[in-house]
Amino acid sequence: MSTDQIRLSIFLGVFFLMLFLESRIPRHPTVDSKKRRLAINLGLTFLNTGLIKLIFGAAAVGAAAYAREQGWGLLNLFEVPAGLNILATVILLDFAIYWQHVLVHKVTFLWRFHIVHHSDLDLDVSSGFRFHPVEIVLSMLYKIAIVFLLGPSVTGVIVFEAVLNGMAQFTHSNIRLPLRLDRALRYLFVTPDMHRIHHSVEVRETNSNYGFNLSVWDRLFGSYIEEARRPQPEIVIGVEQFRRPEEVSFGHLLSMPAQVRAVDQN
Ligand SMILES: [Zn+2]
Ligand SMILES: [Zn+2]
Repeated sequence: MSTDQIRLSIFLGVFFLMLFLESRIPRHPTVDSKKRRLAINLGLTFLNTGLIKLIFGAAAVGAAAYAREQGWGLLNLFEVPAGLNILATVILLDFAIYWQHVLVHKVTFLWRFHIVHHSDLDLDVSSGFRFHPVEIVLSMLYKIAIVFLLGPSVTGVIVFEAVLNGMAQFTHSNIRLPLRLDRALRYLFVTPDMHRIHHSVEVRETNSNYGFNLSVWDRLFGSYIEEARRPQPEIVIGVEQFRRPEEVSFGHLLSMPAQVRAVDQN
């Protein structure tokens, strides 16, 4: 199987599993049409996937192979055993994207694009891929830069991308996990309840719980919120500026960065 086939299989497998679970054990009532949101978010997913393929190909993996040939990056300085290299790659890349996420919240120009992700009025498995194409391109450039600095193994990058892909769907899904399982998982990993707080309209909550895979970065750097001000099913999802479904249509999402009020997000 090629990496593309592995990627697609993980995407489809997790997608349909989460979709099924969302229909059986929903955690949060919805305010917008699921069909409409799925069409918008999957539309963005296809647009972004096509764009990335067109501009970069398998860029991060290619960058890792190139860094290895050139002997660039931290992990290429040492003889790291393969298994440890993969583990270190996954953890360090996760650390890097935690800080990227903090940055896109703190820098107004970047927030203009990231707000598209936050403008979803409900959260579900499809929200994990709802990003403005410009944010996707900038993320890719950032990832390539990190890969050059880190010099990770090619397999490590493939594993990281697969984990991130699956986790993005899981952490955005509208599923109710048993509370004890959620708390146990949260010691190490981001859960749907933890990430839902990040999608709250309340600014203090939006600017918290930045983690994608591991929850430890938020705990370490003081951005962790265990409970939202409201109980989970009552968290108001989205951003203050765009509350109506018409304001978050596909066309509006693409031009949204130009409409964002220059309010201080912090
Ligand atoms: Zn965010
Ligand atoms: Zn999110």
